Amino acid sequence: MKIQSVRGMNDVLPADSAAWQHVHAVAAQVFAAYGYGELRLPVVERTELFKRAVGEVTDVVEKEMYSFEDRGGEAISLRPELTAGVVRAGIEHGILFNQQQRVWCTGPVFRYERPQAGRYRQFHQLDVEAFGINTPDVDVEIIAIAAQLWKRLGMSGFQLEINTLGTPACRAVHRAALIDYLQQHEAALDDDARRRLHTNPLRVLDSKVPATQAIVEGAPKLLDYLDEASLAHFAAVKAGLDALGIGYIVNPKLVRGLDYYTHTVFEWTTNQLGAQGTVCAGGRYDGLVQQLGGPQTTGVGFGLGIERLILLMGVQNVPVVSNGPQVYVCRFGDGAEHVALTLAESLRDSFPNLRLVLNAGGGGLKSQLKRADNSGARYALVLGDDEVAAGTIQVKSLRGEGDAFTCARTELAAELSRRLGL
Ligand code: ATP
Ligand code: MG
Repeated sequence: MKIQSVRGMNDVLPADSAAWQHVHAVAAQVFAAYGYGELRLPVVERTELFKRAVGEVTDVVEKEMYSFEDRGGEAISLRPELTAGVVRAGIEHGILFNQQQRVWCTGPVFRYERPQAGRYRQFHQLDVEAFGINTPDVDVEIIAIAAQLWKRLGMSGFQLEINTLGTPACRAVHRAALIDYLQQHEAALDDDARRRLHTNPLRVLDSKVPATQAIVEGAPKLLDYLDEASLAHFAAVKAGLDALGIGYIVNPKLVRGLDYYTHTVFEWTTNQLGAQGTVCAGGRYDGLVQQLGGPQTTGVGFGLGIERLILLMGVQNVPVVSNGPQVYVCRFGDGAEHVALTLAESLRDSFPNLRLVLNAGGGGLKSQLKRADNSGARYALVLGDDEVAAGTIQVKSLRGEGDAFTCARTELAAELSRRLGL
């Protein structure tokens, strides 16, 4: 039997990794531009963490988590999201008490879902979180970070949807009214909705089943149950977005399905990815740190799906900084071998940004030039015994940028620097 990758878990080949490197480089630059520091966390956590953070009755924990016992009998899970681990680490290292923290995190997350375009079992997130700031200005900041990322990546066409979930107290009153209403229409609901009616009724509002959606239309609206402070918080978030010129629509049906969310929730969506249209989602979670055993500390953040972002970059033909070779050095004859070797190394010493492949494994001129062409390089440099003796090298454009010419080796660094902008 041929061993293949696990279903829903993908390899990224060198030809496709430029987009990943580009996203990571731009994201790291954007997060630093707002003063966020990177946190690196284990991929595995205790299962209890996700039960408590994400919630035992959520799809993620009920059906999608990779959970197992390790050899010591510990119940552990591959992380299905990043926020829980960020909060766990923040509490453990005492960096959430009585202070502000701005952090970000990235890496693989795992969910046992039905794989399809934009939905995988191992995928990757970028996560941004701000702790210890309970004012709406930081909600605006978190949303603006995503907008800045779209701008620097050269992406367009996102729709920002926002909503507010208010405080747990107003949600409880709304929840009772919602359960009451849904019970009156129980017969018309789908099975999932009927099951969630008591466990997680807000999630019913999010249903994609048409019959249930029709019932949801007439359901009590949380907006009508919000207290003044919640409304003021939401108004301030909207005013901040207005000031920045970030367009949004208020979607009263937007809920994040997790108990820990309070006040602001938002999603950045696109209609260019079919059904998997949410690229980035987040909100405020003022109860989570305490829920996980830490001091009462507010939080707000987002999770962004990198695969979906990269799919969308492809759809929009977003230019990506290439990481492929620029120069390929062909070498022939015993005399050229070490001259080419030391030349290649000294060019790399001179230009840290230069990407240069030195031919290895021998081969005639034709086959070396073919490798040079296949490498994607812009220029082939040809060094044989004649050039060694003459102190020269041939420079050959592989992409139709003029005829081949002979260059003094002492001039080569300056020539490449000018042509490649090194
Ligand atoms: P969806 O409604 O698409 O299942 P979600 O609400 O479960 O998304 P979150 O938990 O908010 O997603 O995760 C944040 C982001 O991670 C999503 O907006 C999406 O871009 C991405 N994402 C979620 N699940 C997957 C997956 N199975 N494969 C690839 N990306 C995913
Ligand atoms: Mg999901």
